[in-house]
Amino acid sequence: MNSPIRSAEDYIASLRGRKLRVFLFGELVEEPVDHPLIRPSINAVSETFELAARNPELGTAVSPYTGERINRFLHVAGSAQDLILQNKMQRRLGQLTGTCFQRCVGMDAINALHSVTFDIDAAHGTGYHGRFIAFVTEMQRAGFVIGGAMTDAKGDRSKAPHEQADPDVFVHVSRRTDEGIWLRGAKAHQTGCINSHWLLVMPTMRLGPGDEDYAIVGAVPVDAPGITYIYGRQSCDTRSMEGGDIDPGNRKFGGQEAMIIFDDVFVPRERVFMDREIEFAATLVERFTGYHRRSYVCKSGVGDVLIGAAATIADFNGVEKVSHVRDKLVEMTHLNETIYATGIAASYQAVPMKSGVWLCDDMLANVCKHHVTRFPYEISRLAQDLAGGLMVTQPSEQDLRHAEIGPLMRKYLQGRADIPVEDRLRILRLIENMTLGRNAVGYLTESLHGAGSPQAQRIQILRQMQLDFKKELAKTLAGIESGDGVAAEFVDYMGVSGCFRHLPAFASDRRHAGHSPAPGGAARRGAVHHLLFGDVAGALYLADQVRAAGTLRGALATECLGLCGNRRAHAGRGPVVRCRPPAAQSVFHRLRGHAL
Ligand SMILES: Cc1cc2nc3c(=O)[nH]c(=O)nc-3n(C[C@H](O)[C@H](O)[C@H](O)COP(=O)(O)OP(=O)(O)OC[C@H]3O[C@@H](n4cnc5c(N)ncnc54)[C@H](O)[C@@H]3O)c2cc1C
Ligand code: SF4
Repeated sequence: MNSPIRSAEDYIASLRGRKLRVFLFGELVEEPVDHPLIRPSINAVSETFELAARNPELGTAVSPYTGERINRFLHVAGSAQDLILQNKMQRRLGQLTGTCFQRCVGMDAINALHSVTFDIDAAHGTGYHGRFIAFVTEMQRAGFVIGGAMTDAKGDRSKAPHEQADPDVFVHVSRRTDEGIWLRGAKAHQTGCINSHWLLVMPTMRLGPGDEDYAIVGAVPVDAPGITYIYGRQSCDTRSMEGGDIDPGNRKFGGQEAMIIFDDVFVPRERVFMDREIEFAATLVERFTGYHRRSYVCKSGVGDVLIGAAATIADFNGVEKVSHVRDKLVEMTHLNETIYATGIAASYQAVPMKSGVWLCDDMLANVCKHHVTRFPYEISRLAQDLAGGLMVTQPSEQDLRHAEIGPLMRKYLQGRADIPVEDRLRILRLIENMTLGRNAVGYLTESLHGAGSPQAQRIQILRQMQLDFKKELAKTLAGIESGDGVAAEFVDYMGVSGCFRHLPAFASDRRHAGHSPAPGGAARRGAVHHLLFGDVAGALYLADQVRAAGTLRGALATECLGLCGNRRAHAGRGPVVRCRPPAAQSVFHRLRGHAL
């Protein structure tokens, strides 16, 4: 690729002639760009370039690395506002495509790796961060699309990677030299991988001793030798091969998932951003999923389309003003906006990391994604309710065009007399497409499992729900004497600190946290966030930022040292440390008197 990819046309041209090994229906695909089943997914990615051209404020950002405007999907968030704009862009693209536009996994991966590579270097004296920044800069200059390859095939879910009967069910290093590493294994369900230029390969879960060869992050070109893609089927996908434009439902746009097989794929050292640092695998997964779980505001954009489709069919059927119909549209809107609200709030409550990137609020990001595992199903149920049964029983487009059958269809499938029958059939096909056809993959099942199945969010919510603190709040108001005074001084996940026994101070702090994104407030929230995730180094750094360094830093370090006894890891202000969250919380309990 010589000239940078800036337009949709550049993008589509850049995908041609790559000679990828893509299998679909048991055959090698000669040119994915021209395949009618694949092309709608390419169109969806193209829309990210179209938006950047049409609305640069939303679709682009100025890169600190190139000094130029780049596509926002390649931008490293330098503020909470950057993360908020990501969410607004995602909602808009969901509205424009009605499907998955595929670029968020890569965007969230570069943001997560920014801080993780920095932290690994601080802990181990490695040189990952500089190499990673060089990689990101190159991607930004070229305007490449990056896919995020995290989920392994995983085999027996009860076993660690090194315990599996077949070592290849998790991607791992099969060979290592001074020049680089070789990757072997498979990544499953990879969104937009064939439509990308580069893949960021990352571990999928917490790793432990014995898993060192699985603790690997590397960037690989999509057309690297040794990679095979097996294209994933989507419900009703062959409708886009039938030639018509009604039955596909959404003729232009679709999503894409494929399995990627790595058969000893070489990654040069300068493209390796983690190698054997097992203790950072969980940190990477948590930070990535933090970003990605609030990226699911994309579904609120798709939800806007479905609400619009439901309102349209009600209108075409002559019932739009009926009270239960309006109430159902209100319910759909309420659910949809709840997804958006929690996602964008997670971005709003972002905190700066030591590397300079901003990280969203993990609790709210998990709550957003957890809504997403449920609300699109209810919104779909209501859309199907309003659609009526014809959505799944209507005859084909060929029948509509048939000389004998067509007029019968137009006679008997009429809704309101002033609405063309074909329009009625088109909107029903769109609802079918989104709720049980091709784009239901993105709107429903992807909402359930993408960025982790529902239980993964419940675990994160459980870790951060601060029950002791909440019990203390209740006991105080009920006049119950607290046994140990736990949480008399506490910082909660809203970033609100202070002693709730002194309500005026609490209230003033709440005002500060609520209305001012001033560095002090953000840093304080950040310190809490870091500590709850056992990232002591991050907490200490942010404590420095609020100019409470001296005693507080010492106190934090001492407390954490006492809790985990991991002297090496906690030495100085160095590395990220994995504390158990309860341990991190009790650091706070024991630090009463030290205001962050
Ligand atoms: C449409 C789609 C697009 C996707 N895109 C991407 C992508 O671009 N990049 C990427 O990296 N990943 C992607 N994913 C993968 C996604 O992150 C995974 O689907 C998700 O993490 C769940 O993994 P799984 O599908 O293997 O399900 P499983 O792990 O098999 O989970 C099935 C069930 O078993 C439970 N379970 C699994 N393991 C355990 C355990 N050890 N203990 C208790 N319960 C367990 C789960 O909670 C769940 O209920 C995508 C997924 C989908 C569906
Ligand atoms: S499902 Fe949504 S967040 Fe994930 S890549 Fe697709 S559009 Fe982006």
